[in-house]
Amino acid sequence: MHQVKDVELGADILAANRKMAEENSRHLKKHQIKCIDVLGAIGSGKTLIIEKLIEILKKRGIRCGVIAGDVAGDDDYQRFKGHRVPVINLNTGKECHLDAHLVSHALEKLDMGKLDVLFIENVGNLVCPADFPLGSELTVTIVSVTEGDDMIRKHPVLMGMSDIIVVNKVSLAKIMRVDTRVLEKDAARIAPHTSVILTDAVTGTGMEELLRAMKLG
Ligand code: MG
Repeated sequence: MHQVKDVELGADILAANRKMAEENSRHLKKHQIKCIDVLGAIGSGKTLIIEKLIEILKKRGIRCGVIAGDVAGDDDYQRFKGHRVPVINLNTGKECHLDAHLVSHALEKLDMGKLDVLFIENVGNLVCPADFPLGSELTVTIVSVTEGDDMIRKHPVLMGMSDIIVVNKVSLAKIMRVDTRVLEKDAARIAPHTSVILTDAVTGTGMEELLRAMKLG
């Protein structure tokens, strides 16, 4: 009996999140904002990739904003602030993912009329966010070669939900003894609908290709 109740409660939470995600999506579309949910493990390079994209887009007159999600602290928030774009810091405390409700409050704080693109940097995790859509138009999942060549096949649910899979830090592939073709092959098998983009955010490799995949290039 106890178990059944737990399951029902879980289903309610997920259904409420989905409803809120749909509301977020409608709200963002009304303001013609392209919202991109960026996922990836801690240290995969989410923040740096977003920073690089913001700088390129700013030069093209595209107005960016960011919701910086983290369990604690404002490290990423401060980095984004340095790019002089609107940023909202979202700390989840103990939760391993953002949810649509938290994002809806962040949207309330942003001046929607002044944004073209909104990046949401999710909490560094490749498991929990799969159950919690946020209302974004695109899901971009980042893995890096420093995490090994098995990151894609170990996370089939999230990879299958992603529109774009980024393999980052490719300039370190040789030193890490990682063959990026293994990651590409896994992506083609697990998530055949996704685009796989090889990047190195430090050098800027693949950033234009990534923007094209996001239909921003
Ligand atoms: Mg980060």
